[in-house]
Amino acid sequence: MEKLTLKGKVILEGKIKLKTGMHIGGTKETLKIGGTDNPVIRDAFGGILIPGSSLKGKIRSLLEKKYGRYDKDDKRDSYLPCKCGKCEICKIFGPHDSKNIYEPVRVIVRDAYLQTEGNKKDYEYLEIKVENTIDRLKGTTIKGGIRNMERVVAGSEFKFEVVFNIYKEEDKELIKKFIEGMRLLEDDYLGGCGSRGYGKIKFKDMKVICKPKEYYEGNENSKIESNKVESLNELESELNKVWEGLTFN
Ligand SMILES: [Zn+2]
Repeated sequence: MEKLTLKGKVILEGKIKLKTGMHIGGTKETLKIGGTDNPVIRDAFGGILIPGSSLKGKIRSLLEKKYGRYDKDDKRDSYLPCKCGKCEICKIFGPHDSKNIYEPVRVIVRDAYLQTEGNKKDYEYLEIKVENTIDRLKGTTIKGGIRNMERVVAGSEFKFEVVFNIYKEEDKELIKKFIEGMRLLEDDYLGGCGSRGYGKIKFKDMKVICKPKEYYEGNENSKIESNKVESLNELESELNKVWEGLTFN
């Protein structure tokens, strides 16, 4: 087997802005007095975040559906992530079966934390939304069908960071594929209750940073940072520019 060597890292940074309220479920243990049955996820210190695993999983599943790279789960009525280990999605995210790892996984998606303004505290970015389940025949709320959903309010912003480990010249196409998944996500949703309008997001304030292997050997000047951009198409153009900083021989 060919032994791949790391040529550098390419980092996508920016913000995720909520266009509608978002609910990524936490556990009941984080429930505080006056809280809700369905709290949003928090870290151990009460910080509100979008877990890297949620962001990564959602982008992966959108790409898998676009390219038909999923497996049917025969035990349950659902789909499983691709486990082939050879397709672009498996190269980016890792195969869903550790026996099929042929190449190092390319992407690391960090937890995205809520950005608070001034002295505002994280909990000031939360709201409770009451959701009814309507009886389709009577047109009334089903008994026990009322849920209090905690949401992060529309307008909130989270700081994201995605790191790609670069081994081959073709890896640029893998980053472009990931950006395609980010585009799909802007017209999909993050978290729960998407069909009720929750979790519409937009990426903004983005840049690409290229750190060739020389950077890690101590050459600070080899790092290239792109301009700040507001759209994913511009981000892809900036990627083409900073990519020049990498060498593949
Ligand atoms: Zn695959």
